[in-house]
Amino acid sequence: MRKIDLTNFQVATSETARDINRRIMLNLIRRHQPISRAELARESGLQRSTVSAITEQLIKERWVTESATGHIPRGRRPRFLHLNKARVGIIGINVRPVRTTIALAGLDAQFIAQASLPTAPNPMQAIDELCSHVRTLIETHPDIAYEGIGVSLPGRVDLTSQKLVFAPNLAWHDVDLKTPLEKATNLPVALENAANACALAELWFGEHTESVRNLVAITVSEGIGAGVILNGQLVRGSTGVAGEFGHITFVEDGLQCRCGNHGCWEMYASNSAGVRYYAETTRRRSGKSDATRGQSAPTFDDLVRLADQGDARAMAAIDRMAHYIGAGTALLVTGLAPDVIVIIGEVTRFWNRIGPAIESMVTRRTFTHATTRIVPTDPSTQPRLRGTIAMVLQKHFGAPSVV
Ligand SMILES: [Zn+2]
Repeated sequence: MRKIDLTNFQVATSETARDINRRIMLNLIRRHQPISRAELARESGLQRSTVSAITEQLIKERWVTESATGHIPRGRRPRFLHLNKARVGIIGINVRPVRTTIALAGLDAQFIAQASLPTAPNPMQAIDELCSHVRTLIETHPDIAYEGIGVSLPGRVDLTSQKLVFAPNLAWHDVDLKTPLEKATNLPVALENAANACALAELWFGEHTESVRNLVAITVSEGIGAGVILNGQLVRGSTGVAGEFGHITFVEDGLQCRCGNHGCWEMYASNSAGVRYYAETTRRRSGKSDATRGQSAPTFDDLVRLADQGDARAMAAIDRMAHYIGAGTALLVTGLAPDVIVIIGEVTRFWNRIGPAIESMVTRRTFTHATTRIVPTDPSTQPRLRGTIAMVLQKHFGAPSVV
């Protein structure tokens, strides 16, 4: 039960009840489509007349369409309800340190178009280029009614200023993406940390969505991010920067992190750590660094390719990453006991190998009877990008904050 917020509440009116029931209907249709009015009444426990009134409104506003498709063995064929996926267009943007992806999705969160551009190191230049790409995307699809833009960022967004305030792997400080994007497009812009976006993607579009209320998404990329959902709600903390488990000290007096701290979890479990582990073993064998041999340092993509080819040292580097991913996951299982922890990143291609290593670390280190499932996310679902669609759709499909 949530405590009533006496500093920010809204008393219930008859409209409140209607709004809640309407959102329940929209979600039941989204989940069970195609669905008849009779089934909606059964699923919701509402009277047939109430269900009819709400669905008529939803059809009038074009959120829902009806058709006679659907199969029942005999009797009168009911009209079936579906979400009208062409009702809105949502633009999703995923900013990563090297590349930025832009996508267009409908109400069903399926991507209709997608493009990408290099992320300029200078934030002002990057925002200019982004605005121009988004404008082109909108102009290419002029018939779509755009609902808004969701942006996933490799950093945290301050709740009050809506600026990107903590992005150590992008080296941008106090950057305002919202104002220029809104000015360039006349659309509302929602910003969210990438791990939070992944957690939202899993909550709204994942496989186990209805039974899962407590979920942690761990993104393993240039750094490590965590998005925490407790009781169906994203945890943001008092200023919006909650979830930075990647910057919790793991090794006292350990390696210096880009955040300024020493020994952060991401210094040992991220893709950058994997590349460092590989370089260390290579140096040990040859006695020379890559630079002195005139070779450029390997990237994480190189490491993945080598591991795919069965290179023992690349696999050993991935195994070391898995050890530390497991150590941090154990901490999250012990501290939060979520229903599920999803791990997102290129490293999950080796899940057959790293999954058991992570599980075994968690088993060895947690004694709390937590029953957390630890699963990888299928990268083809593009969770960072899909989460941006959830950000925009939440205002129609999410639970209303009444009190
Ligand atoms: Zn750090």
